Amino acid sequence: MRAVVMSGYGGPEVLELVERPDPQAGPGEVVVRVGAVAVNRLDIWVREDVGHAYAARLPVIPGYDVGGAVAAVGEGVSDVAVGEAVYVHYDYSCGRCAYCLEGDEAACAGYEVMGVQRDGGYAELVLAPARNVFPLPGGLDARVAAAAGSVYLTAYHMLFARAGLRPGETVLVTAGGSGVGGAAIALARMAGARVIATASTAAKRERLLAAGVEHAIDYTAAGWPDEVRALAGGRGVDVAVDHVGRAAFPGALAALANRGRIVLCGASSGSEATIDLVDVFARQVSIIGSSDGSRRELHEVFRLLAEGRVAPPPISAELPLERAADAQALLASRDHYGRVLLTPGV
Ligand SMILES: [Zn+2]
Repeated sequence: MRAVVMSGYGGPEVLELVERPDPQAGPGEVVVRVGAVAVNRLDIWVREDVGHAYAARLPVIPGYDVGGAVAAVGEGVSDVAVGEAVYVHYDYSCGRCAYCLEGDEAACAGYEVMGVQRDGGYAELVLAPARNVFPLPGGLDARVAAAAGSVYLTAYHMLFARAGLRPGETVLVTAGGSGVGGAAIALARMAGARVIATASTAAKRERLLAAGVEHAIDYTAAGWPDEVRALAGGRGVDVAVDHVGRAAFPGALAALANRGRIVLCGASSGSEATIDLVDVFARQVSIIGSSDGSRRELHEVFRLLAEGRVAPPPISAELPLERAADAQALLASRDHYGRVLLTPGV
């Protein structure tokens, strides 16, 4: 098979297209032909070894958001069949500890991620344990599953499991044009919330309004949290969803209503921010961390997408495998709106 392999850390030049032997399905394993793999910011952080935080196991084939079709099954695999459309879940965990049994596998001491510690989807074929292979509910396209998988799961867990979103509440989504931001907007709207989102350019704010947000705010303008509070009836928003960190978190916190909740799953602009602790307790706001989501939630996300109850992610580019470096550069440039895919199977 053809695969993009990363043997060291560095710039885009460390992504090398090579020929590799096809993976073989052992007992309990499945080989999936990759129809599409989403390119994520984490792919770039792993490549650049940002903060030595991701501990990739090199050499590795990057990419963890894979949609495709089953190519082969190993001994003992009976719940998926050759040719079936599937999503390959990226979580590797022991499956037996208390966290795993509770469904919170990101908390498992043995937690690993496809495309970081295990070979991923920048390839024509990917090998996975059968328990990571999710048959797609009727009519859900493998491309849409690849584009939606990790970001919809992350946003779903943030909004419902962690922030406890209720119908009629007002939600602020920072960086609404990003993958997680777009997913949070679609899911919050599905749940009957009013949504206010931020974006840095007029073009992205136009796209957000077309996607159904009530107000699109320029978060590079001074005083934007006051504008959000005013738009949310003067009291502020009930829930804020952030993954931007330093450049947006303090403002999003200031835009919360009394007893509001802010939930964060990343800090892409920087991980240190200054907040006023008096503001936190005097206004009784909750600061909630969130990471990943459960297998049950992934099933729920795919069912909602298949039934057309939640809007699918916009897809801004689909590039062939040999353009993996270009795809990462496009994502890093922020000069796009929607998900960037590699399509090895085309
Ligand atoms: Zn475990």
